[in-house]
Amino acid sequence: MDLPRRLLKQHFGYSDFRPGQGEVVDRLLGRWDVLSVMPTGAGKSICYQIPALCMEGLTLVVSPLISLMKDQVEGLLQAGVPAAYLNSSLTERQFALALHNARMGKYKLIYVAPERLETASFLTFAREAPISMVAVDEAHCVSQWGQDFRPSYLAIPRFTAALPSRPVVAAFTATATPEVREDIIRQLELREPFLLVSGFDRPNLFWEVQTPRSKREALLAFLSAHEGESGLVYCSTRKNVEEVCAFLQERGFSATRYHAGLEPAERSRNQENFVYGSTQVIVATNAFGMGIDKPDVRYVVHYNMPKDLESYYQEAGRAGRDGDAAHCLLLYSAADIQTNRFLIEQQGRETETDEEERARRIEQDLARLKQMTYYCHTTDCLRHYILRYFGEGTREYCGDCGNCRAYFEERDLTEDAQKILSCVKRAGERFGTTAIADVLRGAQNERVVKWELHKLPTYGALSALSRDEVLSRIRLLLERGYLRQQDGPYPTLELTPTAGDILFRGEKLTARVKVSTDRAAPQLSAQQGDVPPALYARLQQLRQQLAKQLGVPAYVVFSNGTLREMCRQLPRSEGELLKVSGVGEQKRKRFGRAFLEAIEAWRQEQGGA
Ligand code: ADP
Ligand code: ZN
Repeated sequence: MDLPRRLLKQHFGYSDFRPGQGEVVDRLLGRWDVLSVMPTGAGKSICYQIPALCMEGLTLVVSPLISLMKDQVEGLLQAGVPAAYLNSSLTERQFALALHNARMGKYKLIYVAPERLETASFLTFAREAPISMVAVDEAHCVSQWGQDFRPSYLAIPRFTAALPSRPVVAAFTATATPEVREDIIRQLELREPFLLVSGFDRPNLFWEVQTPRSKREALLAFLSAHEGESGLVYCSTRKNVEEVCAFLQERGFSATRYHAGLEPAERSRNQENFVYGSTQVIVATNAFGMGIDKPDVRYVVHYNMPKDLESYYQEAGRAGRDGDAAHCLLLYSAADIQTNRFLIEQQGRETETDEEERARRIEQDLARLKQMTYYCHTTDCLRHYILRYFGEGTREYCGDCGNCRAYFEERDLTEDAQKILSCVKRAGERFGTTAIADVLRGAQNERVVKWELHKLPTYGALSALSRDEVLSRIRLLLERGYLRQQDGPYPTLELTPTAGDILFRGEKLTARVKVSTDRAAPQLSAQQGDVPPALYARLQQLRQQLAKQLGVPAYVVFSNGTLREMCRQLPRSEGELLKVSGVGEQKRKRFGRAFLEAIEAWRQEQGGA
């Protein structure tokens, strides 16, 4: 076995690299710069941790978030890899001690925040230290094109240039459109980098969109079906976070909240409780998540539609990093479009000086919002839709997403269509989608009264439908070309010549309507399938207990997958235990005996077989 694979087994307990990992490791060891674009959960960290162990000297890992560094370093220490982090969470003494140890060559990896790179004390240290590699995590933060631009990332190329000899630079990201990719290479001054873009498909994620009458009820139903599992609920605003979190707590769920308006102390406490597993659900704005490494998140629910698919894929992708089945549910309502539109149009109002540039950006963002909205409406395969958006050709039918499993019914919507078209006509073709929907549903609001819309014969004609149903019928008429929308600030609806076919000439309008989604095949039980539940529960309990003693999250001890493997292989000796994927030398020494005893005790109970 070659050195990288030997170290992979010894420290992390894995018998081989995953696709992509091996290539990146080889290139780095050959002293090539690398840009690696891999989806969340693909195993980026291994790509630089193994080379760091093989190379002489020290690897610096630039990482954007303190919480991320802490988790990573804890994981490494448990795997017997000497590592440390240098950031503002350390006291002055701890910092000095870490730096001293670093000078003594005690670490193979040091995690730093980008801000740290340009401080005088760190530069002095770095110029004398044998730094062989700089690994940049979340590298898209260096790009102004991306969604998480961090000016401090621009310090990285200045830093590497200030070193006596330039280390190998490895950049990692999960979200990169070709533009952002180019920009990363340019901004980080990568030298003819090896580019690895691995497939974006996450086969263990189940995608689903619902357009419920009540999001609360839908959320409640979903969470009740996922009792005992860890999950995330994203909301678009702080106010929504507060309301949804309070609502869940009232209903007895173990839920906490996270948004930028909370005191930092509460924020990190809530986050920690979630990561360590004492709170089951975290309700958060998109401020939560970057750098959250928790691998056993079983679902991500979006209570509101995000502004683009990039954000959605990144946020939803926080589910199932451990490779076990996980569910990504988006609860859509047409009101989400309005919120996003508003946010997009507000952005840069105070800061952007170049009006033209700002207008261009807004246009670009609105186009992305449109693609996101189509995702919520499509009746085609959701996985295919996402992957195509990211430029990947795939099968058009995955057979395992909310749409592929849904039952659709061909419905005759002619009558509804006639009511809508006639309403648009009678209202003088002077109103937009929402006003028309209001009239058809018989709403009583200012606009209706002001324009005397309640006097129209179609007022209340579709009151039996939900607002979203009415809106989706209108959209269908737009798509099929019976209606069109004026461009400009007032997108009023008007009839096209073909509208007459439906109104007067007996043409029918039919469409596929989602009736239900088949949930008959929960994937989780299939995965656990062959493992004895009593043994699995016992090992989980042991893991929890050990994690608590060490003050680390449970997954740092062993992943769910590793526990399941133990249940299947039922090792009797430490040698056999080492064969289980996820058990390395250090963990065998630390935890081996306890787990072997637990397995043995279970075996006795089974009658000593
Ligand atoms: P990323 O940073 O790409 O989101 P991580 O580095 O956190 O992903 O890895 C995701 C999960 O995959 C972790 O639980 C990790 O231990 C596991 N993993 C990584 N590489 C391998 C491998 N070669 N074999 C088995 N599991 C692996
Ligand atoms: Zn599908």
